[in-house]
Amino acid sequence: MKEKIQSKILEIRNITESTYILKMERNGFDFKAGQYLVLNVPGERKAREYSIYSSELDDFIELLIKEVNPGELSHELKYLKVGTKVQIGGPFGYFILKDEVVNKKQPVIFVATGTGISPFHSIIQSNLELDYQMIHGVRYKYEAYEKEHYKSNRYQLCSSAENGIGFKGRVTDFLKTEQVNRKALYYLCGNSAMVDDVTDFLEGNGLPADNIKTEIFF
Ligand SMILES: Cc1cc2nc3c(=O)[nH]c(=O)nc-3n(C[C@H](O)[C@H](O)[C@H](O)COP(=O)(O)OP(=O)(O)OC[C@H]3O[C@@H](n4cnc5c(N)ncnc54)[C@H](O)[C@@H]3O)c2cc1C
Repeated sequence: MKEKIQSKILEIRNITESTYILKMERNGFDFKAGQYLVLNVPGERKAREYSIYSSELDDFIELLIKEVNPGELSHELKYLKVGTKVQIGGPFGYFILKDEVVNKKQPVIFVATGTGISPFHSIIQSNLELDYQMIHGVRYKYEAYEKEHYKSNRYQLCSSAENGIGFKGRVTDFLKTEQVNRKALYYLCGNSAMVDDVTDFLEGNGLPADNIKTEIFF
């Protein structure tokens, strides 16, 4: 059921210079991992969508937010004081796991750029036995947000601007180094250019469109 509730900010934790985790009261807000909410500061008109980063099992809600420049709400939220009330509406979206994946009958491959990893973090933390592969595209390796939360043999970092840990290049380049798994479900989340490129690549290599689910942030 959709709802609109008030929630107090509990903590704002910087994880890089421009990316932070906003933790707030859950107050019974019901959602499925992979869904998003709409957040606004009461009294102000601007509202933005944010995928939920925390698990279905947590008694708080966390969001993983990148401060974009120039941007409005992502900057303002970063400097809110603990105890400030925000309004959250939702949950929204269908970017959730199919039963076939939860029951481990179908493998799942998550592909994200930047904070597009947020819904996958929620899904993975909510389904601890999941058979997944996480492919995360960033510019610099310090943007491998909380990578210790993923099993190291299931997490592949792709950094487009830096050599070192992981694959040097974009997620699409990494995918081209592997066979497309035609039995798997691919979930893609992040910017539209990545989602379009990866969709074209997968479909061009014989993956049925039904095996691809997408969520675009911008
Ligand atoms: C379904 C959905 C889920 C989303 N979940 C998240 C999330 O979990 N975390 C998150 O950080 N953002 C998320 N976003 C993006 C978010 O809603 C805002 O667009 C973002 O925070 C910028 O808002 P703003 O008011 O600061 O800037 P705006 O004034 O709205 O936008 C400024 C510019 O920044 C671009 N932009 C938006 N997001 C990014 C980004 N991450 N990186 C680079 N440029 C961007 C916009 O296209 C625009 O050109 C999501 C968007 C959608 C549609």
